[in-house]
Amino acid sequence: MVNTFSFSCSACGRCCNSPPSMSLAELFRHPNRFIGCIAIGRVARRRPGERLRVGRHEAVLDEADCARFEALADTLLYRAGDTFSIVAQGFDYPSLARCPALADDGRCAIHLQGKPLTCEVVPLDPLLPDSLQHLVLAERGDSAVYVGSACIQEGKRDDAALLVDEGRLADPHAEDALARRRRALEQERAIWTQAVFDALRADLFDSPAALARIPAGGFLTISLVPALLCVAAVSSRCRELCIDYIDSQLALIERSIAQALTRRRLDDRPVTQQLRGFANAYQHAKARLVNVAAVERRNGKRAARPDVEVYLSSAVD
Ligand code: SF4
Ligand code: SF4
Repeated sequence: MVNTFSFSCSACGRCCNSPPSMSLAELFRHPNRFIGCIAIGRVARRRPGERLRVGRHEAVLDEADCARFEALADTLLYRAGDTFSIVAQGFDYPSLARCPALADDGRCAIHLQGKPLTCEVVPLDPLLPDSLQHLVLAERGDSAVYVGSACIQEGKRDDAALLVDEGRLADPHAEDALARRRRALEQERAIWTQAVFDALRADLFDSPAALARIPAGGFLTISLVPALLCVAAVSSRCRELCIDYIDSQLALIERSIAQALTRRRLDDRPVTQQLRGFANAYQHAKARLVNVAAVERRNGKRAARPDVEVYLSSAVD
């Protein structure tokens, strides 16, 4: 089997069928468009000799493949028995089957205003080694979304860029996008995901019953509040940015729920319930942050971690 794939995006918008993974800073850049959440995913560990098969494509993992998996896990993932990803993500009603930034003409409305880096990586997966991206393409190429757009094609094509040539990434733009997304995930770890992992350790990652809520290959979505509390603790400026963000999110959640209520769909109900939980968590967090701000104003205490302040501030125009 020749693991060669070509790719040509016509910007048809078909894969923009849900809100993307984003950095926290990217969520702060679009506080009125994306409802933020934390997505915790279970990522399968790999063993030498393991056979991965997608349709007619397969790979038998060798020591080098597994070492690459482990290297990615060391820098981007969290180990608690199994391996987990922790990322910020947009959240919306699955029944809408669209990203909130997808315009009616099928284009991305924020293409020039800070489109998430994740969207530049499509259709590749930054959490898998480059040597296995052909399997990602094989799987996505067979999926309903991509079959419909025919943007992923096996073999070399005159009308498409060569993305993977005999199992090796062949497109420098794709390599660059993967590298930038991985660097962004490392930065997320330094800014907040490690702190959130530590904060959730006892209640989630050390609890088999709680972990059972995360399906294999699936996600658990929770409120963004643990991430906000982490960055808000850095300085008064960060706290102000978080309070502003919470205000925008509360208004957005209210609008989103109001629209859902007019749709009157049964399958929207659990999502509405979760959004109300997010709003409740935001209200409590805001009260806490306002209270801390008042105490600090009285005491004149200011913490400082310039990298986090720059990270959050850079996201706000
Ligand atoms: S489905 Fe394919 S062609 Fe359409 S926007 Fe996504 S990557 Fe581009
Ligand atoms: S942000 Fe833009 S490119 Fe990304 S999923 Fe949404 S509409 Fe598509």
